[in-house]
Amino acid sequence: MDNVFDYAPAPESRAIVDIKSSYGLFVDGEFRDSAAGHGFKTVNPATEEVLADVAEADEADVDAAVKAARRAWTRVWSRMPGAERGKYLFRIARIMQERSRELAVLESIDNGKPIRESRDVDVPTAAAHFFYYAGWADKLGYAGFGPDPQPLGVAGQVIPWNFPLLMLAWKIAPALACGNTVVLKPAETTPLTALLFAEICQQADLPPGVVNIVTGAGETGRALVSHPDVDKVAFTGSTDVGRAIAKAVAGTDKKVTLELGGKAANIVFDDAPVDQAVEGIVNGIFFNQGHVCCAGSRLLVQESVAEEVLERLKRRMGTLRIGDPLDKNTDIGAINSAEQLAKIRELSDIGEAEGAGRWSPACDLPDHGYWFPPTVFTGVSQAHRIAREEIFGPVLSVITFRTPAEAVEKANNTPYGLSAGIWTDKGSRILWTASRLRAGVVWSNTFNRFDPASPFGGYKESGYGREGGRHGLEAYLR
Ligand code: NAD
Repeated sequence: MDNVFDYAPAPESRAIVDIKSSYGLFVDGEFRDSAAGHGFKTVNPATEEVLADVAEADEADVDAAVKAARRAWTRVWSRMPGAERGKYLFRIARIMQERSRELAVLESIDNGKPIRESRDVDVPTAAAHFFYYAGWADKLGYAGFGPDPQPLGVAGQVIPWNFPLLMLAWKIAPALACGNTVVLKPAETTPLTALLFAEICQQADLPPGVVNIVTGAGETGRALVSHPDVDKVAFTGSTDVGRAIAKAVAGTDKKVTLELGGKAANIVFDDAPVDQAVEGIVNGIFFNQGHVCCAGSRLLVQESVAEEVLERLKRRMGTLRIGDPLDKNTDIGAINSAEQLAKIRELSDIGEAEGAGRWSPACDLPDHGYWFPPTVFTGVSQAHRIAREEIFGPVLSVITFRTPAEAVEKANNTPYGLSAGIWTDKGSRILWTASRLRAGVVWSNTFNRFDPASPFGGYKESGYGREGGRHGLEAYLR
């Protein structure tokens, strides 16, 4: 009887994407080799198969990209009327929709995330960002930043690997809408959708140099953010690298936004609808393998319902399907890299050594690739490292509380402040709690919801500046 509910595999076809054996840098509207001829490999984390060789940009390449962006800004993009810029953005958005299957399959292959997520969340939300900011391009004078706000110039943008295309959209769409040109560096483990996006820029006839994509690792990022002709630095990634970037640009007149890590509290009160809350907990921490800056990685559950919530949570976790990211039934895909897997394992082992109770459902993990089962830790105290540090994996730490005041105190007891969740039946309790949480985004009776019209950003060590919505324009205007 055990296998009655097993699903047959329903793999999405890879045939729609044409992965080249090697990729160059996208500079001034064309693909070119890196000056020094260096490169690196990007692998499929679900199989460890090498997907492609990708050019590694050094200082000279970054300089060429910044020069191309400057030329395009001075000669074309800063002079173009907003309505014209908007047309390019609408065109890019439409091509992203037309090529959405290709983008989704490529994202899942390079990143390891389930196709269900790349297809239903990453790609549509990325296209929605371009549509949304396309609409702003000719209305900047009504955005609340003065009657005639001006672009900053060249933006140097560095993004992480957890939502490669979506983070690109968060960065590029508002920058272009406001009249800036960009040099963007994708993460070294997930460069492929950014390079496909470069093709989309060509297809949209975007003037050369308006968007430049330089691939490489930390050194390439460092060269970009420290380039003297970059006017604006936008970074999403870890708090440690964010700190290094803040130091690198200190004393210059570069404008900076930093979107960093998080350790969000997902608070479940005793009057919450339990089944909905359990879905929200699962979505909060297991969506995208927990590689989510705003993941609900700390479950704060009221003591009187803790046992029931945990029991139902475990039952639900038992139904999650881990495996082939291209299988449409898959809920949890591969961990993005061997390095990230090692970090998740290390922190989880520390959680156990510090005395927390560790539990994962029985599940078969594939033989190749990087995998980690959905995991929950109970009996976690606030001093435990798994309660304080960002694990960035499918690992939930459960902490209990007795009163709303205690919930707020525990939720705020973190160096981060990016997001939080509240589950309760009472609107007044939502408002009471939300107004006391030090977090940039507070979801109530839902979690991990993203909309281009809604600003996103952190408090404290989660960074500064806002992306998304009208607020997101401010970072790119003088
Ligand atoms: P990371 O900081 O290691 O790398 C991020 C990017 O910075 C990569 O492209 C990397 O190559 C580049 N980089 C590394 N060193 C650099 C340097 N010295 N100068 C310039 N660039 C450098 O982070 P990651 O592991 O790729 O991503 C995970 C982190 O990102 C998590 O902490 C997560 O919370 C955070 N994140 C935050 C948000 C947000 O919106 N706040 C969104 C997604 C991810």
